[in-house]
Amino acid sequence: MEFRDLKKQYAALKQDIDQAMTEVAASGAFIMGGAVKELEHELAQYVGVKHCLTCANGTDALTLALKALGIGKGDAVFVPDFTFFASAEVVSLEGATPVFVDVDPRTFNMDAKSLDDAIRSVHDNMTLRPKAVIAVDLFGLPADFTTLRTITKREGMYLIEDGAQGFGGSVKLPKPDGEGFDVHRACSFGDIATTSFFPAKPLGCYGDGGAVFTNNDEWAALIESYRVHGKGSYKYDNVRIGLNSRLDTLQAAILRVKFKAFKEHELADVNRFAEYYTQLISGMTRFIKKEILITPPYIPEGYTSSWAQYTVQLSVPSGNGTFNREVLQAKLKAKGIPTMVYYPTPMSAQTAFKELHSFALTPNASRLSKSVLSLPMHPYLTREEIRMVAEQLISNI
Ligand SMILES: *Cc1c(COP(=O)(O)O)cnc(C)c1O
Repeated sequence: MEFRDLKKQYAALKQDIDQAMTEVAASGAFIMGGAVKELEHELAQYVGVKHCLTCANGTDALTLALKALGIGKGDAVFVPDFTFFASAEVVSLEGATPVFVDVDPRTFNMDAKSLDDAIRSVHDNMTLRPKAVIAVDLFGLPADFTTLRTITKREGMYLIEDGAQGFGGSVKLPKPDGEGFDVHRACSFGDIATTSFFPAKPLGCYGDGGAVFTNNDEWAALIESYRVHGKGSYKYDNVRIGLNSRLDTLQAAILRVKFKAFKEHELADVNRFAEYYTQLISGMTRFIKKEILITPPYIPEGYTSSWAQYTVQLSVPSGNGTFNREVLQAKLKAKGIPTMVYYPTPMSAQTAFKELHSFALTPNASRLSKSVLSLPMHPYLTREEIRMVAEQLISNI
């Protein structure tokens, strides 16, 4: 069994993917070929925003967003302490300062109360300007953007959605007139949102890729310039310092095939599998007498995850038992079940950030980094495999 089975996916989509790749090779249009614009149009339409600009990877997508918003030296950018390194790395790379905020213990996403505390602490310290929040849709679950937006509005800050794992997730929100609900897709929530097409993400390509989403014409034009060496009226008129960050036509062509499968059944499949995992794990946990508590992922009412990861929490409720996560992983591995720990180190504990001043306590991020375990999750699993993983998890704990 694979943690995320990309070979099975290729076998299922082989004919269309091979044809798409051959067409690009025959066209010779490897950079900014037709498939790039077509993909951007399809993604923008699906997400429900005006502009989608693809780029070389999800990290560059965040960098392009920060550049478009003019974020740099002296700016505080609030980032969840429990995330992939890139969410915070880009802030430092642009000369701004990441401020780590704790996460909600159930959703793993940025905690609004902790954000408020961190902002107050930055104001009191008076060395940095609170400028933006990068909220991450961790493991595929959209962050609490309604609450976060209230805070960024009050503070006059930008809100950036790091949707690298969130693409395909959604939130049901009341319509502006109060009559009924609208479904809002991930990557439509911030002033600017970003995603990644790294192979293991919910929508992955066959290498690196990423995209930026925004409704703002001015920022879209800036990103278009920044991604091609800060071009002006044309490629050899350079009006600002930029990047070389484009999505290859080959990757765009592959993504168009995979996006079709994603919409047709993959997203629905992972949601069914997640439900089955949760049903099995909750059912079995009631019957085990051991001192370990297994908590399945929590999806708030009205939210849908894209299930970038299916992550359980393993905890010792009495507080006096010991539990070794590596031993459990080794036992599962011996049964042919791969598991992963996302993420073993909170951002505030990363060596690269050791010089940073701490503006907020992040106890939930610390606890989660020691207690989480991600199980195999992808659209080409079988129900038998999921049952096997759940049974082995319970019996080896
Ligand atoms: C993967 C990821 C990124 C970076 O994407 P790349 O395409 O690997 O550069 C950024 N943020 C989060 C939360 C991610 O999971």
